Formats: sequence, structure tokens, C-alpha cells
Amino acid sequence: IDPKTLEKPHADKVQKVQYPENDGTREKATFVTLARNSDLWDLVGSIRHVEDRFNRRFHYDWVFLNDKPFTEEFKRVTSALVSGETKYGLIPEEHWSVPSWIDEDRAAESRAKMVAQDIIYGDSVPYRHMCRFESGFFFQHELLKDYEYYWRVEPEIRFFCDIHYDVFKFMKENKKKYGFILSLSEYEATIPTLWDTTKQFMKENPGFVNKNNLLDFVSNDKGETYNMCHFWSNFEVGSLEFWRSEAYQAYFNYLDKSGGFFYERWGDAPVHSIAAALFLDKSELHFFDGFGYYHPDFYSCPVEENIRLQNQCTCNPEDDVTWYDYYFCTRKYFEAQKLSFPPGVNSA
Ligand code: GDP
Ligand code: MN
Repeated sequence: IDPKTLEKPHADKVQKVQYPENDGTREKATFVTLARNSDLWDLVGSIRHVEDRFNRRFHYDWVFLNDKPFTEEFKRVTSALVSGETKYGLIPEEHWSVPSWIDEDRAAESRAKMVAQDIIYGDSVPYRHMCRFESGFFFQHELLKDYEYYWRVEPEIRFFCDIHYDVFKFMKENKKKYGFILSLSEYEATIPTLWDTTKQFMKENPGFVNKNNLLDFVSNDKGETYNMCHFWSNFEVGSLEFWRSEAYQAYFNYLDKSGGFFYERWGDAPVHSIAAALFLDKSELHFFDGFGYYHPDFYSCPVEENIRLQNQCTCNPEDDVTWYDYYFCTRKYFEAQKLSFPPGVNSA
């Protein structure tokens, strides 16, 4: 199918994006998955979905990263499924350990408090390493050095619709740096001081904040407080160069020094989202529609029937949470970008 003949979802019309031609060339881009060996059987379905709906046409590479060496079985099984080249990397120790400036007793105390409050992953140290790694280090990994764009894939995800155009070429031709599907509200108890730390950073480094930013996506009061909206980072297509930029590097290091990855439980999703909203030009962000996506426990399913039929989607539109007017943030995003909602989505 020639992407030029595709019917665009409303979102792509109002975002004024063009679909790239399939000219047989590839971008410098790769899938990237952080996983444990024990994630293998939850991951194979994710890979199969990505291949069937997209990559069997484009054959992009796939980089797998782990804090422990991958087993031979993990490599055999995943490399048999991926139609591009597969690469397996070990995460360097300094990117997966508690930094010297962290007070371990204080970190343990705060974990105990979070357990008492029933906060998901509240007691988990590996989860904190994961969030810190995804926030600050994945794009520094040697295996990602030669790539410009990445697409993050996690275990247990699904894609429900055919993706007929090259998503990486799409990013390049439309000058996009960060793309997402679902967006929702963070649990405040995991990030009590993240916004104050961010405000302090902005005060000390006003030059990093983009003049044409999307602050209104993350704040309802011009930056006074954080509204908890974040892009759901288990799916991301983004520019590696953005994470490697001076602004983001300075921001991450500032957050890391403050200790919130360990004293609280800062997620990579709010960190990435706040950074994208503040440091990018708002035209560099993109809401992907028409893919149909699932990660436990939420579904995205295109609201427009003609798009679902065209893309041979297998999702039930009644499962879609994209346009919910509470807890989810797509409406907030569209309002911040001054975009109209798709037909059928009322502006209540
Ligand atoms: P959730 O989506 O927030 O519930 O968290 P996940 O369990 O899906 O973890 C996010 C990503 O990090 C997934 O790709 C996991 O496979 C990966 N991950 C989580 N914890 C670890 C870990 O301790 N080691 C490694 N290597 N990967 C991990
Ligand atoms: Mn996950």
C-alpha cells in the first residue's frame, strides 16, 4: 500500500503531518527493549505484534538491553522473530546502581513508607534502577550510538492495526522528536518533589526552556503546579539526539543529584514528558493515531471506523481510553496544542 493513498485519521489532519513514501530506504533507527531474561515469554508476543503490523515491511533493527547477560535461549528466540538485525547489550554497572551521593538508609526508609501506603513498586529497588536507566542512560548505551531514532517496546504489549508507513521516516520528514499514543495521570505519591525540583532547575537554567514549549500539557496554572499528565512511555518513538542534548543532560543530572529516583519513585514517564513539554518546540511532539495499542491495563483503539477498517484493526473501540475526560490526558494535549477533537469525541 502506498502511504500517499492512506486516509488520515482526524488527528493527523489537524496535526498537519505527511506520510512518507516507501522508497526502500531506512532511517538510522531501531527498536529498543529493556528486559530481564525472565521477560522472554511476555516479550515474544510484543515482538510478533510489532513485526506483523509494521516491521515485516521495514526490517528495522532491534536492540535488547539488560542489567544481566542475556541467555542463549533469549537470543535464539527473539532473533528468530525479528526481521531486522538483533543486538544484545549489557548495561554498564554505573547505569544500574545506587550513586555515591544517595543516603541508603534514607532511601530504605522512604521505600518502607511507600509500602505502607500501598504504592505500586513502592518497595522495589530494581524498578527504581529501571526508571533511572530509562530516564537518563538508555540512549547512552554503546549499541544505540549510531542510531538517530528509537521505538521503545515492552513485554505484554499489542498493536491492533496495520502501520503502512515508515514511522521513523515520518519522524524525520515531519521534524518530530517525541511521539506517544496514550497519556495519563501519574500517582502523586511517587513524585512529591519532582515539580519543585524541575522549577528550581528552570530557575537556574532559564535558557534551556523552549520559547514555544508545551507547558500547558503538564501544568494547568502556567507552571505553578504539575497536573500529573504524562506520556505513557512504554510506547515511545523519539529522537535519541534530544535525550543526548545539553538541555536534557543537564536536567537529568540535576534530577539525579536531587536523589528523587531513590528517595521517591520518579518514573521515566513523567521525567521524559516534562522534559519534552519544556525543552522541545511544541511542533516537535506528535500524537500517534490509528495504531491501536495495549499495555496492561489500558487500550487505545482508533475512534474513527473508517480508520479501523482501513488499517485492519482488531481492537474493540469500546475499550478505548484515549478520550476519557478524567485520568487520561489526550484532551489536555489537544487543548494545549489547540487542536480540535476527532468527530464523535465531544468537547464536554
Ligand atoms: P511497568 O510497565 O511500569 O509495570 O513496568 P515493567 O515491569 O513493564 O518494566 C518496564 C520495562 O523495564 C520492561 O521493558 C521490563 O522488561 C523492564 N524491566 C523492569 N525491571 C527490570 C529489571 O530489573 N531488569 C531488566 N533488565 N529489565 C527490567
Ligand atoms: Mn510495562
